[in-house]
Amino acid sequence: MYEEVKSEVVEVLKTLEEKGLNYGRSGNVSVRIPSKGHVVITPSGFVKSALSPKDVLVIDMEGNVIEGEGLPTIEIQLHLRIYEEYEYFNAVIHAHTIYSSALAVARESIPPIIDEMVLYIGGEVRVADYAPFGSKELAENAVKALRDRRATLLANHGVVACGRDLWEALEVLEVVERVAHIYTLSKALGRAFSIPSEVVEFQKTVFLSKLKH
Ligand SMILES: [Zn+2]
Repeated sequence: MYEEVKSEVVEVLKTLEEKGLNYGRSGNVSVRIPSKGHVVITPSGFVKSALSPKDVLVIDMEGNVIEGEGLPTIEIQLHLRIYEEYEYFNAVIHAHTIYSSALAVARESIPPIIDEMVLYIGGEVRVADYAPFGSKELAENAVKALRDRRATLLANHGVVACGRDLWEALEVLEVVERVAHIYTLSKALGRAFSIPSEVVEFQKTVFLSKLKH
């Protein structure tokens, strides 16, 4: 089932590795098939850039494997809770990026410093409260931090990016990491100013008008 979607998941995993946005066995990717109530999701334990489409699993919304061998990613609850809560997301990417993870370790949210950040992500990128990897609590904290946003940092862990499709989720992840890099450099220069609040409010209105459609 869903051969094309599985191939796209594999392509995105290779892209993440090539762009330095993920490494080794870390990270996980899923795509929801809304008409069927199925989720195409990465398995646990593989070097992600070496996966082939046949390794990618299909699960239902309760987490039961309905096609493929092995176990789904340990972050299965994170993916399923996001889909349950936010009907407008059909793709989730979780990765251990460098600059956004550094800010997640500092437990510092990224303020709205660059226009595209508000237009793609919805404003400040929050840090979800700390919870151990793979836990139900982590999933709940991420869901909370994703309200009216397409991305969140996970304290001491990494980043979650969501989209209407896989390509949008990838774009969001790239914007978060780029903005995290810029913010880190600005802070090293000693100053990081946010965009004026009235501009942010206007951009948020534009973002929210598109988020759920
Ligand atoms: Zn992780």
